[in-house]
Amino acid sequence: MNFNKELKSIKNYLAGKPIELVVREYGIEPKDVIKLASNENPYGSSPKVVEAVRKICDKMYLYPDDSMYELKDGLSKRFEVGEENLIIGAGSDQILEFIVRAKANDKNGVLMAKTTFAMYEIYAKGVGTNIYKTKSDTHNLEEFLDIYKNSGNISIIFLCLPNNPLGECLSKKDVYEFIEQIDSNTLVVIDGAYQEFSSYKDEKTKIEPKDLIDKFPNAIYLGTFSKAYGLGGMRVGYGISNSEIIQNLMKMRPPFNITTLSLKAAIEALKDSEFVTNGIKKNFEEMKRYEEFADSLSIKYIQSYTNFITFLLKNDKNSSEISNSLLKKGIIIRDLNSYGLNAVRITIGKERDNSRFFEEFEKIYNAG
Ligand SMILES: *Cc1c(COP(=O)(O)O)cnc(C)c1O
Repeated sequence: MNFNKELKSIKNYLAGKPIELVVREYGIEPKDVIKLASNENPYGSSPKVVEAVRKICDKMYLYPDDSMYELKDGLSKRFEVGEENLIIGAGSDQILEFIVRAKANDKNGVLMAKTTFAMYEIYAKGVGTNIYKTKSDTHNLEEFLDIYKNSGNISIIFLCLPNNPLGECLSKKDVYEFIEQIDSNTLVVIDGAYQEFSSYKDEKTKIEPKDLIDKFPNAIYLGTFSKAYGLGGMRVGYGISNSEIIQNLMKMRPPFNITTLSLKAAIEALKDSEFVTNGIKKNFEEMKRYEEFADSLSIKYIQSYTNFITFLLKNDKNSSEISNSLLKKGIIIRDLNSYGLNAVRITIGKERDNSRFFEEFEKIYNAG
């Protein structure tokens, strides 16, 4: 059967391995598996959210409120923007897809950092647009600007702030100075999937969606409930931009793209900011232990503004071998070999799980 030619060049997104796989393949009890691979919240979801969702389980035969009034109301109060400035997606991933389908085509191109969120490239390939990447792995705005000016046909620029899978983050000042030099017809995407973490760690990296879209009519801010809010399994994300951009993206949105239970979860999650803040605090306490651990083994790492840390391994160590050995011990981390790096990304877990990771990693690292 023939498929569109664009599909040929697409490599499937490699998701973090699920707990079920380790249970099946290595016969390890689910309770003994430690998942530090997908940047989920190790403290779970807010108990208030779980309770609220439980209460409406008998409503799952009903289609959800397609206007998403309550969630938009909550978001518009939180971010001080109008409801006309909001779009909700099945994860912010889905909004990325809307953006690419709305703006990119085979006559223009998209621009991103060399090592960044893999979905930008996957969606871009799907529409057959040209893909431009910087030489540097991490975000280097001079390189972005160079490519932007020389190519002359960039429809979308992706800035992942902070960046997954490397963890670095640009300052708001640098980002604003960069966007000022971008033409009004180029859409600048600020992917803020980890902004809750970076803005806690360093105020200078904090990008307020309202401020961003007031200053730049060609910018869109993306947020998600999957990370700091602990709702990865519910698939809810949001986009904030000026109403013209939102209206156009809404044309891409299938009806009922968020489930009834997911909507409820997101609405309640917005109300429990204490749960979110506590998780972020613990994240950075545990992050310190990871830094000390890496230092003790003389492993290089990137200063992380997120809920994960990336270890850059020396040539005599192999990221895939180490990840596989850990897997056999029931510890799932993310091998960055598929990004062309001899590196591993580890989601910061709970204290006890992190201790077990240190113990097993050290044994494997010293033996290998
Ligand atoms: C996790 C993540 C997302 C989106 O996640 P969803 O679960 O689809 O909301 C977007 N961008 C980056 C960089 C991420 O790490």
